Order: sequence, then structure tokens, then C-alpha cells
Amino acid sequence: MAELISGKVVSAACREKIKREVDAFKTERGYAPGLAVILVGNNPASEVYVRNKHKACLEVGITSYQIELPEETTEEELLKKIDELNGDACVHGILVQLPLPKHISEERIIEAISPKKDVDAFHPVNVGKITVGNYQFLPCTPAGIIELLDFYNVDVSGKSCAVIGRSNIVGKPMMLLLTEKNGTVTLCHSRTKNLSQITKSADILVVAIGKPKFVTADMVKDGAVVIDVGINRLPDGKLSGDVDFEGVEKKASMITPVPGGVGPMTITMLLRNTLTAAKQK
Ligand code: NAD
Repeated sequence: MAELISGKVVSAACREKIKREVDAFKTERGYAPGLAVILVGNNPASEVYVRNKHKACLEVGITSYQIELPEETTEEELLKKIDELNGDACVHGILVQLPLPKHISEERIIEAISPKKDVDAFHPVNVGKITVGNYQFLPCTPAGIIELLDFYNVDVSGKSCAVIGRSNIVGKPMMLLLTEKNGTVTLCHSRTKNLSQITKSADILVVAIGKPKFVTADMVKDGAVVIDVGINRLPDGKLSGDVDFEGVEKKASMITPVPGGVGPMTITMLLRNTLTAAKQK
């Protein structure tokens, strides 16, 4: 039976450390780090994410500015708001909750955020910095996964790693971070041929595709470390990852559960990035 990699445990330890650092920051500078989160429209899932981010900020002493704009907000209006926040000395981090309504270009909005305040690390300048290995911020989900691997002493160096999913927010940066840790990484996606052949040879397998229970035990190498990023709502209302947990836990040496694995780490890394942004001011 695989050992559980608990995002709850690691996240609690990280948040305690962040809280101590925020306290020290406040004592030294006389003000708190500030994070502005912009939500456009009323996507119910986004509303939950934004609420959770706000709560997490308060818990560690970061000031959270929640900016809620109506669905019909124009791209120009949103750009103007971002411009204001870029120039606001109390705001060290800016996050625009995605997805945005269809009439707004996510690309233009991401590029309008000052790279110094881009705590999601989605701005092309920050993506470029990650590529060359000289960065201030890492995107929250892959950064959280690296934190989990470190906490559980999973040595990546020289290991064969497979990442399934090539999104800009998870798969691609994950490939870069595992490479930086000296893993040999294969990035798989919807057009990959012989997927199970690749996954079966992976010592470390990261799955981020958004398909419930897609990775089954026969696709996993004996003793592999399996990281499940997926969050899928099943018809019965329960949450499921992209990995068939019941089957795979019998074969893997370590595995993240869903919920309680990668999920809790994402917001924690956002808090860390906000503190980093504030420290660099
Ligand atoms: P996405 O939805 O943007 O893209 C899915 C990716 O999966 C694509 O690159 C596609 O090529 C690949 N894919 C789809 N079907 C495939 C198949 N049959 N074989 C191989 N590859 C296939 O990806 P995303 O935004 O990274 O999200 C993936 C999952 O991770 C979703 O369930 C999302 O909810 C979850 N997620 C969780 C967190 C977290 O904090 N835990 C953060 C981000 C995303």
C-alpha cells in the first residue's frame, strides 16, 4: 500500500512558516503584504476559489483586497483597474481569477499585470524567467508539487518522470521544475501515442488532465510516486482526481489523495508568492 502524500500536513507546516515571516515583515516594515484578487462575473467555482484565497490571506496576516466586477465589465475597464493596482503601493500581488468572460482576452489581461506583482507567475516575463531558471515566482500548483516532493524526501535527480497534461498553469511549468531538479521528463498530452508505455516507465508520474480516474493501475510502474492534480466532480457530487486512487495506491510507493493532496498546496504557494513580492519592494 502506498504512503499518502498529504497536502494538508505540508500546507499547514508551510502556512505556519509564512505566518511567522509575515509577522516579522510587519514588525520590520510597519505594514502588511497585500494581495488584490479580481473576480469578474459570477462563476460559482471561481467565487469559491476567491473566497478561499481571501480566508487564507487573513489567516497568515496578509491584507486581501477583493475586487468584484460585474460580468459585463469591458476589457478596457479591467485593464484600467489593473493599471491602478500596478501603481498602488499597498498592493504587492495581483491575481485575476480565471476563466474570464468570453469577451475579455485573458492573454491581454495577464500581460497587463506588472511582472513584479504577478503572483500567479503567468506573465510571459515570469514564464521566460522560469525557463532560464532565474525566477522570483513559480506558478502555484507546480510549486506546491515540488514542495510536496521535497517534504517527503522524494529525490527527483536522475529519475524518469512523466507529466500528463501540457497546460500553461500546470503541465508545462511542471516539466521545467522537474527538469531543474535533474529529472528526465516526458511531457504527455492528448496526442501522445503509447501513453501507457511512457507512464509505465516513470518513477514519478504527475497527472493533470481533468479526466476522472483516467490513470489506472496497469499504467503505473511498481513503486512509482504518483501526483494527482485533477479535481473532477462526479455525478454523485463526490470529488475525484485524474487517477484511479483505489487501484493505483496498491502499486505506487507514494500517492496524493484527492481531495487533500495537491489542492491545499496551491493557495499556500500563492501566499508565499505574495510575501516574496512584498519583500522585494
Ligand atoms: P487543461 O484542462 O487546460 O488541459 C488538459 C490537458 O490534458 C491538455 O494539455 C491535454 O492535452 C491533456 N489531455 C487531455 N486528455 C488527454 C488524454 N486522453 N491523454 C493525455 N493527455 C490528455 O489542464 P489544467 O488546467 O492543467 O487542469 C487539469 C486538471 O487539474 C483539472 O482537473 C483541473 O481542475 C486540475 N487543477 C487542479 C489544481 C489544484 O490546485 N489542485 C490547479 C489547476 C488545475
